[in-house]
Amino acid sequence: MSTPQLTNCPKCGKLFLRIRNICDDCYQKQEADFLKAAAYLRDHSGITMQELNDGTGVTVPQIRQFIWEGRILVDQFPNLSYPCETCGNLIQKGRQCSSCINTLKKLANEIEKREDKGDLSKNQDGLAGGYISHYL
Ligand SMILES: [Zn+2]
Ligand SMILES: [Zn+2]
Repeated sequence: MSTPQLTNCPKCGKLFLRIRNICDDCYQKQEADFLKAAAYLRDHSGITMQELNDGTGVTVPQIRQFIWEGRILVDQFPNLSYPCETCGNLIQKGRQCSSCINTLKKLANEIEKREDKGDLSKNQDGLAGGYISHYL
C-alpha cells in the first residue's frame, strides 16, 4: 500500500493529500456537475455539448471527461459531440478522430523505427565508424 502524498490539485492548484487525482473541493464540485449534467440530459436527450454547457454551466472539458470516464453514455445522446483535439472534427469518444489517430499511429511507428536505427548505430559503433572512415 502506498501512502497518500501531498500534491497540487490539477484543477485548482491547491495542495491536497492525494487520495483521488483531484482535491476534495474539486471532487465535490465535479460530482455536483455530473448530477446537474445527467439530470439535464434526461430531459434534453437531443442537445449538443454547447447547449448542455449553456443549460447547466458545466464546462465542456468537464462534460468531455464524464464521457471519457463512461459516466455519460454518448450512445444515448447523438448530438453530444466535441471537436477532435487535432483537426476539430466532431467526435464522441477519445481525444482525436479516427483519421487523426491513424496518422498519429503512423507517426509513432516511424519514430519507433528511427529510434531502433539509432540504437543500432550506437550498438555497432565500430561499424558506423568504419563507414565514415571509408567515405573520408
Ligand atoms: Zn482542486
Ligand atoms: Zn481529427
